[in-house]
Amino acid sequence: MAKKDFYEVLGVNKNASDAEIKSAYRKLAKKYHPDVNKEEGAAEKFKEIGEAYSVLGDEQKRKTYDQFGSAAFEQGGAGAGGFGGFGGFEGFGSEVDLNDIFDDFLGGFGFRGGRSKNRATKGDDVLIRVEIDFMDAINGCNKDIDLTVMEACPDCHGEGGHNPKTCEACGGRGRVRQQTRSILGIIETETACPTCNGVGKTFESICSKCRGRKQVKVEKTLSVEIPAGINTGERIRISGKGGEGLNGGPNGDVYLEFIVAKHAIFTRDGNDIYLELPLTITEATLGCKKDVPTIKGSVVLDISAGTQPGDKLKLRGKGLSAGAFNKGDMYVIINVIIPNKLDRHQKELFKNLAETKLDNGEYKKIQEYL
Ligand SMILES: [Zn+2]
Ligand SMILES: [Zn+2]
Repeated sequence: MAKKDFYEVLGVNKNASDAEIKSAYRKLAKKYHPDVNKEEGAAEKFKEIGEAYSVLGDEQKRKTYDQFGSAAFEQGGAGAGGFGGFGGFEGFGSEVDLNDIFDDFLGGFGFRGGRSKNRATKGDDVLIRVEIDFMDAINGCNKDIDLTVMEACPDCHGEGGHNPKTCEACGGRGRVRQQTRSILGIIETETACPTCNGVGKTFESICSKCRGRKQVKVEKTLSVEIPAGINTGERIRISGKGGEGLNGGPNGDVYLEFIVAKHAIFTRDGNDIYLELPLTITEATLGCKKDVPTIKGSVVLDISAGTQPGDKLKLRGKGLSAGAFNKGDMYVIINVIIPNKLDRHQKELFKNLAETKLDNGEYKKIQEYL
């Protein structure tokens, strides 16, 4: 599917306020509602609008979208299956229930009759970026992750209010009939009672802590075991640790996306490790033995005489071990340091060396063009 720009879909700019987004959404939702607009593609457009609003109309999801784009909200989207076993990224509530939109903004106008908002709803998924040390990423580690999630309000135990009583508006039925004048004539509909949201009861007092929302933001810390070999951009999912489900719905999930920090001397390409090894001009010329660190302890490297800058020495199996059959290697890239400070004695030696007319076949090739 082509990448959609949710701002474009709603026809607002990136700095639009929440009110502007809501207003743009309402306008478009009314215009393209499939019960009103019978034009071809209207239903598709309506769904697209709903999808865009489900993200931009939610502070946290909008933030995620601004940071990661729509890929973060697509089934099996970007970053999916970074490494075995964790599977794809399962979207951030990108599915939009048309009836929800219907209930929210079109109210009694509907033919669908509206549904209770008190049905089970999955809690919010949470995406967190985690910076991780280079060696921790290679070896795996335990990490405490701080996050904020929505959980049942402790004051009202997730009810939204205190002292429940039968809803007076619907007499406890949870549904009301109403007549609506519309472009299609007068329509009598039965919808979820707006006073009690279809539950049939209200409260003597709305909970002041959650303002009736049943949930409040809670900060918590997750202790996570991060598997060895994780790399930048890869994600793991921690099932059921996101926002608490509403009305018995399942909890959301937590997704961790990793950023592996740079190392002072090692770099990494997949399972392979690279190290630049500086040699003196004599070490490279005459050959030497050199102690070299790897991610698995030090080794002694045999540098042969005449080693050139840019030469690549392979240390088989000294990279990351990702499973029994997928062992990375280490590559040592040679650099030769030309001295820029010589004492008198060294200078003398170089001058003597120069008089020997060192072979420079490469320059001879260039000379031909002089
Ligand atoms: Zn009611
Ligand atoms: Zn509460």
